[in-house]
Amino acid sequence: MAQMGVESSFVDMSTDPSAVVKHLRPTTRVVWIETPTNPLLKLADIKQISTVVHQFDPKILVVVDNTFATAYFQNPLELGADVVLHSLTKYMNGHSDVVMGALMLNNEELYKQLFFLQYAM
Ligand SMILES: *Cc1c(COP(=O)(O)O)cnc(C)c1O
Repeated sequence: MAQMGVESSFVDMSTDPSAVVKHLRPTTRVVWIETPTNPLLKLADIKQISTVVHQFDPKILVVVDNTFATAYFQNPLELGADVVLHSLTKYMNGHSDVVMGALMLNNEELYKQLFFLQYAM
């Protein structure tokens, strides 16, 4: 991604959720949370991180990789996240016999933008 001009920071969100704020920049567009993490099962406080990120800039998208928890145990949209991602290849499918993913949103405009990209790309 660096070759395409995308900068990134890696932050330990499980130890200190407020550490995320120190890494936010005026150019930050996405905060990506994986919780529980694969493979160490570390947890991040989605609600606290979403709150501090959106206080910094409401336009920053908080994306949660919810693959390990599944939608059965955790709903990040209810905790303030903007986008939820699942690898459906794993628990949701159960057999690793398909490679599939899904995004969940509660924003119609963002949904239309992503749907266009899915279709066009
Ligand atoms: C495996 C995994 C992915 C990627 O899933 P694929 O369907 O294999 O692309 C993404 N996030 C987490 C947390 C995973 O464990």
